[in-house]
Amino acid sequence: MLRFRNLASGSTGNATLVEGRSGAHTRRLLVDCGLGIRQLQWRLQAAGTAPAQLDAVFITHEHSDHVGCVLKLALRERIPVWMSEGTYGALGSPDLDGLLHVACDGVPVDMGSFCAHPFSVPHDAREPLHLRCSDGATHIGLLTDLGHAAETVVERLQGCHALLLEANHDADLLASGDYPVFLKRRIAGPRGHLPNHVSADILHAVHHPNLRHVVAAHLSARNNRPELAQSALAQAVGWHASDIVVADPREGTPWIEASY
Ligand SMILES: [Zn+2]
Ligand SMILES: [Zn+2]
Repeated sequence: MLRFRNLASGSTGNATLVEGRSGAHTRRLLVDCGLGIRQLQWRLQAAGTAPAQLDAVFITHEHSDHVGCVLKLALRERIPVWMSEGTYGALGSPDLDGLLHVACDGVPVDMGSFCAHPFSVPHDAREPLHLRCSDGATHIGLLTDLGHAAETVVERLQGCHALLLEANHDADLLASGDYPVFLKRRIAGPRGHLPNHVSADILHAVHHPNLRHVVAAHLSARNNRPELAQSALAQAVGWHASDIVVADPREGTPWIEASY
């Protein structure tokens, strides 16, 4: 059984818990850790777990909304931390006291009851990696922070039963909003963040009858609205807007169980 729960989403902080059970064993991977340690602790508690019960943390890239308290957490609880060589370098190569594991595009991370498969994405970070998690039967795609629908990304997400997908901004709201021009260009650029209509294109390209759950994530508070993201994604797959779950910046999502 494979399930996930987003704990926080957006520029104020990102973290998603992936849990795989096989027999009596439950293994937990925290994907990104962009919160303060107390907040993280509360949200893990709300998810029925605790920092000491995490088996590993995977950091997708060096932006502060994804890194948060990871050093403190890892050193305090002795949790292995996975990230790319580039991400580690961009963070200033901190001393992780033997807990660092280098992640690479295409090389799976074996969690015991499931595997996390990292893949590269186009984003303005040194070596960003996002994940597809699989227990062999069910597959979950976790994709935030990318600027365009690269072919390789679409390939890696084929056949997922549940997806957490960035729907960062509405292109018109961003263009007409009051962000400075350089920032608008960065966000809308090919290594920035996904507008709703491109998220919808990705979703359309990976849609199949057994895709059951879609979460819209990393929504901009200023340049998007939940109902715009929901309607763009729902249209791409012929669902009702309310079938698309929106990850709340503070509350995240309930548990979402991937089933095939
Ligand atoms: Zn981010
Ligand atoms: Zn980022």
